[in-house]
Amino acid sequence: MIGFFGFPRGICLYTVAVIVYTVSMLLRRAHVYRLCPTPDQAATLGCWVGAVRFTFNLALEQRRDWYRPGRRFNFASQCREVTALRAEVDWLRDVPVHPLQQAIKDLDRAYQNWWAGRASAPTLRKRGMNDAMRFPDPATFSFRRLSRRLGEVKLPKLGWVRLRWDRAIPGTVKNITVARRGGIWTVAAQYEVEIADPAPSTLPVVGIDRGVTVFAALSDGALIAPLSAGKKALASLRRAQRRLARKKRGSSNRRKQVRRVARLHAKVSAARRDFLHKASIAIAKNHGAVVLEKLQVRNMVRSAAGTVEKPGRNVRQKSGLNRSILDQGWGAFRTILSYKLAQRGGRLIEVPAAYTSQTCAECGVVDAGSRSGVRFYCTSCGHSAHADTNAAINILRRADSALLPVEASHERAVEAGTIRMVA
Ligand SMILES: [Zn+2]
Repeated sequence: MIGFFGFPRGICLYTVAVIVYTVSMLLRRAHVYRLCPTPDQAATLGCWVGAVRFTFNLALEQRRDWYRPGRRFNFASQCREVTALRAEVDWLRDVPVHPLQQAIKDLDRAYQNWWAGRASAPTLRKRGMNDAMRFPDPATFSFRRLSRRLGEVKLPKLGWVRLRWDRAIPGTVKNITVARRGGIWTVAAQYEVEIADPAPSTLPVVGIDRGVTVFAALSDGALIAPLSAGKKALASLRRAQRRLARKKRGSSNRRKQVRRVARLHAKVSAARRDFLHKASIAIAKNHGAVVLEKLQVRNMVRSAAGTVEKPGRNVRQKSGLNRSILDQGWGAFRTILSYKLAQRGGRLIEVPAAYTSQTCAECGVVDAGSRSGVRFYCTSCGHSAHADTNAAINILRRADSALLPVEASHERAVEAGTIRMVA
């Protein structure tokens, strides 16, 4: 029997608290520089990402359409075929071989993820959506600084390409990814840096409830308003996409409009990332441990429309809620907060989310009726508080309590139907 959010009922729902605590301090992080290629260099890079995409799509078609019993395709065999192809095709030979091989590696990983049930089947890459290539060998590239604001990166077969220098990389660069998004070229340098184990933090512990109307409610009463970057940009995005739909296929006006849409998307994601970093650094600086409810965002936003056999109900509302859930960036918030805490000797604790919003933080009684809108009025003891703050206190307690009252009224809460908000 599977409970909601995919927990096997009765086995781990109330007893397991997953503790994420990084002991090793060999950090792998990335820094993204903005590239300033000359028009010629930009054209070459454009050809290269095209070749990488071509390789990925060809390898995918091979595995998908040319498969016969006894004929096997894998990373090594497909890399050999790329080498053979490069001997015959001039424009493919002009592209460094490593990014082409990495495309096959990406495909290989996409297949592994599909087979393991972590992702759906790999699909063809599209121009403008996956314009990126990875250089895995540090021997083939290098960085240097030219002036206060200027640096360059040396790429194989292309030479030095200017970039905006905004910081030095504090470790050894392991690989780089050159990408184009919304017409802007960037190079992401992934580096490894070893830092001394920070002393365990002695700062206070806090529970956080994540929500849509309030981005994060802290158990000490603080509320962080949501940015909802996607929602704010929705109108202009819709307009831009409508204009795009009216452009003639293959026209240069269409290409320009595609770029405008991509730039809007890039802007939204930059704003969201900025917000998440600011929110998480503020929390990480002032707390030694943070307790979060373990959310399975993927289950929560599972297709509103449902499947053919099981069509969904309230499709419109649900897809709207899905959009706001994804717009919050809860998953990214958890990841960012986790490493910011770890760097300061703090830790992130995740606890089961069930009934934290229906439990009274004062007397412990669980009742779906206690919650009305943004307020929490306990039907048992009359305690009144902001609903999310009340939930945050419950989450904080759950980090080290057995949660007995919750278990006792399990069935009643299911009947009340309130927990199936986005099932
Ligand atoms: Zn109460």
